[in-house]
Amino acid sequence: MKEQKPGKYWDRAWSLVEGCMKIDKECENCWSEEQASIRVRQLNPKIRERYVNVLTRGKFNGSVNLMWNDLYKPTPGQSPAVWSIWNDLFHHRVPFEFQYKAIERIHLCQQHTFIACTKRPHNAIEVMDKALFHLKRNYPDAVTPLPNLVGMTTAGYQSAANARIPELLRADFALRAVSMEPMLGPINLDSICVTISEGEVRPWCDLDVIILGGETGRHARPLHPDWARGVRDQCERAGVPFYFKKWGEWYPVTRNVEARIRHKEDPEWHIWPDQGEESPVSLKVPRGTTERLLDGVEHNALPWREKDNSQYMLDIAEPVGTDLA
Ligand code: SF4
Repeated sequence: MKEQKPGKYWDRAWSLVEGCMKIDKECENCWSEEQASIRVRQLNPKIRERYVNVLTRGKFNGSVNLMWNDLYKPTPGQSPAVWSIWNDLFHHRVPFEFQYKAIERIHLCQQHTFIACTKRPHNAIEVMDKALFHLKRNYPDAVTPLPNLVGMTTAGYQSAANARIPELLRADFALRAVSMEPMLGPINLDSICVTISEGEVRPWCDLDVIILGGETGRHARPLHPDWARGVRDQCERAGVPFYFKKWGEWYPVTRNVEARIRHKEDPEWHIWPDQGEESPVSLKVPRGTTERLLDGVEHNALPWREKDNSQYMLDIAEPVGTDLA
């Protein structure tokens, strides 16, 4: 498996769907929308065309473009890599035929690991059931759920966690990850679980990893260190792998440091109101300059980093059928 850069939990982007629709406050400073609004002005028509109809006045308008040709970017002969699927494969405007083709490709490229991140895990439940049913029918030897597919959802604040984590736990993925990036508030995971069938309850601690980070970009919102500590401690107690990705644009410092720096120059501050004089403060810093330390420790647990998939570099298996009816 290729060495991953610090703070990057995947190697290659698999851009299958261009366009999306903002659905909550996590989407406020959507990076993908910003990139689309830059690329739509490119002179190269091939790049421009990917984005023209998905934006209105520079904002996602809910339309999606399907990148049919890019479905074949990952191939069975490539060296193992971790692919991050963009944008949302489980968006309600993505047709099942396309979703199935992506799932089939993932099955055929077992040396790779794929991460499908969605803010719509309720859609993933139905899509995965149906896709794995057809995959098994077309490839009777297929192992399901797919061992090289990570289902991921985002939960940057409490009500998103309450709603999306149970849906992710219900969806048929071999590996499940939650991204708390950008983290926008404290999260208590204690009571989060889902009933799978009579007598079978799947709790949040069945998750395979939680990835947490602060926001980047011009309008980035700060991450309170206690929010990050709270999730770290809950993961530690429950034995759930924890990955601290980054602080983002804002770095927490002590009040002493604040006083010293304020004296020298005039940086931008966010003063947390919660603990009076004891409150931490967050200092706006240039992108990429903050360490990935939480209380002096790097948290790097990633289940897919431990796996060696090179033995799966296979010849393409032939399907016994292609029918999706
Ligand atoms: S779901 Fe993701 S890609 Fe879609 S608008 Fe929100 S942040 Fe952007």
